[in-house]
Amino acid sequence: MATSLLRVPPPQGLLRPLTVPERLLLGPGPSNVPPRILAAGGRQLLGHMHPEVLQVMDEIKAGIQYAFQTRNRLTLAISGTGHCAMEAALLNLLEHGDAALVAINGIWGQRAADIARRLGRLETAGCHLPLYFMQGLVHHKPSVLFITHGESSTGVLQPLEGLGKLCHRHGCLLLVDAVASLGGAPIFMDQQEIDALYSGSQKVLNAPPGSALISFSERAREKMLKRKTKPLSFYLDMGWLANYWGCDGEPRRYHHTAPINSFFSLREGLAMLAELGLESSWEQHRANCVQLCQGLRDLGLELFVKEEKARLPTITTVKVPGGYAWEDIVTFLMDNHSIEIAGGLGPSLGKVLRIGLMGCNSTSCNVDRLLRALRDALGRCRRSSL
Ligand code: PMP
Repeated sequence: MATSLLRVPPPQGLLRPLTVPERLLLGPGPSNVPPRILAAGGRQLLGHMHPEVLQVMDEIKAGIQYAFQTRNRLTLAISGTGHCAMEAALLNLLEHGDAALVAINGIWGQRAADIARRLGRLETAGCHLPLYFMQGLVHHKPSVLFITHGESSTGVLQPLEGLGKLCHRHGCLLLVDAVASLGGAPIFMDQQEIDALYSGSQKVLNAPPGSALISFSERAREKMLKRKTKPLSFYLDMGWLANYWGCDGEPRRYHHTAPINSFFSLREGLAMLAELGLESSWEQHRANCVQLCQGLRDLGLELFVKEEKARLPTITTVKVPGGYAWEDIVTFLMDNHSIEIAGGLGPSLGKVLRIGLMGCNSTSCNVDRLLRALRDALGRCRRSSL
């Protein structure tokens, strides 16, 4: 009997129906996916080289150009999450002997430094102050400066003014992570002379995780074209991806089977941003962040980022209040209010709670709901031992 050959039975869990509870995701991402984007992701598959899919890819490309405020032709979506875009940017831009200067203002700088070190090219890990950039650029002559625009681990928004120009004066490319900030805080890729910019699908764009937006300036493209060696990854080789995304003027060739349904969702996320308009989106995030910050202060909580203009409008960090364990508050909100918020990450672990209001989740109603739930948590989670 054929079945007698089986030593591993079908898993019991898979024989039960899938369960997905309703939750309000107010952590640092992913955020909830609205019905329109869910419906797009649930559409029937097409072939990854069908003209209709190529058309969707072209629309995604135009949507990214709008969201990034760029006319770069090398603009596309990576089949992978934000980390994948970070890796794609670094491994395509850096070549043997190149130095990368990484500004570390939280976990994402640490991760970029880790990737650059794996590529064998991290000369130094700088700090986020302009003085350090200047010193680092002069001293190490890096080919790439990496910086995070919206540090989701600390809730800090990094100003980018003048940085692109400064880098270019020193023959360096500027690479910016805008995974947590895109659509929530202004960024102007061309005007700010950013050479490589990436973001994710699951934050302000409200699409499921799994695709990431990326764009390269002409300067960056030329650096990649002049490479003497191939990038270490075939999957993330920008030459191949540029062709698959129709960015190089050549007939498109199969590179990998794109996650087509993720692209349908991403297209809708970008369409919703285009319909709302960037300026309205920035204003929506700003206003709801202000309301949240005021509400948190009214509850007696202390904001982690003191200076208002240094606050990331999409993710707010608040100090863990004395007498409380952050895990108790996070668990209480989840169990009693079906709301997700998060503790700190990397350098902010144990110090803060992180609250995300991104895209469709950034509403005044959600702020009120969260503040009510937090008030409840503060009344119920105090520990006598702390
Ligand atoms: N950069 C920043 C600023 C982020 O907030 C995140 C995700 N939290 C990432 C990069 C990594 O993205 P992903 O989890 O999609 O790989």
